[in-house]
Amino acid sequence: MKLIKTKAELRDMLKEERRRGKGIGLVPTMGYLHEGHLSLVKKARQENETVVVSIFVNPTQFGEGEDYGTYPRDLNQDTDRCEEAGADIVFAPEVEEMYAQKSAAFVDMDRLTDRLCGASRPGHFRGVMTVVSKLFNIVRPDRAYFGQKDAQQVLVIKRMVRDLDFDVQIVEAPIVREADGLAMSSRNAYLNPTERAAALVLSRALCGARQRIEDGERRGDVIGFDIARQISSEPLADLDYVEVVDAKTLEPLREIRGSVLIAVAARIGSTRLIDNIKLEV
Ligand code: AMP
Repeated sequence: MKLIKTKAELRDMLKEERRRGKGIGLVPTMGYLHEGHLSLVKKARQENETVVVSIFVNPTQFGEGEDYGTYPRDLNQDTDRCEEAGADIVFAPEVEEMYAQKSAAFVDMDRLTDRLCGASRPGHFRGVMTVVSKLFNIVRPDRAYFGQKDAQQVLVIKRMVRDLDFDVQIVEAPIVREADGLAMSSRNAYLNPTERAAALVLSRALCGARQRIEDGERRGDVIGFDIARQISSEPLADLDYVEVVDAKTLEPLREIRGSVLIAVAARIGSTRLIDNIKLEV
């Protein structure tokens, strides 16, 4: 496996792979890799001859006062994990390599980014779309892999690919969870043991909602209210949002039917966590 730090070197290497007719899979990440990330790498391994994992904590997707400076980083551990999962190339550029000085062009989107995390984190998806577009242009992958953990992000990327004619197939993979249900996240590393226990309220509330829907409840606001009440009953949790929405448009659902996304975000102590479930009703 190769660790590459510059765009030029990566382009050269991939040009050669492409010339030999090899399919290229890209897994974009911010590093501090866990089994959730590695599930994407393994899936990419099965479907492509060449697998590139990018590791880049992207400053433009963090807002003022967010955790860009403290975001966990461990490139040595990450490259070991990538190699074990079968990656061929880790692309880990410095910020100065990734962004030209005084970069002024960005990718943005209407509507779909107005809600959920887009509403709580202004500018976040502009940063995500910009960096993912740059990675698509640098790597020119045949397929790119994203986790359902960031449900809104997958939708936004799919829409961007459709609307801007990127020639890449977007592949989604399910959320990987800890044994007790907590969705894996690099940010779980911030949690102390008490917070770690409190964080379970998110997956438990979603699980409870799934059960209520299976038992016949169809009122979106009742389900949303129920989740909010459960999360708010946890003293260490500060709820950001609960949304019961159409899984394709992110429009709120009065009646639960069709493809439904139930997404939550909350601060546990000072750590912002997200989780969601998708249901066909
Ligand atoms: P990140 O490093 O947080 O930017 O995540 C990189 C990719 O890994 C994104 O497509 C995420 O959705 C995905 N991912 C993160 N956590 C998980 C998880 N627990 N299960 C599945 N995919 C995940």
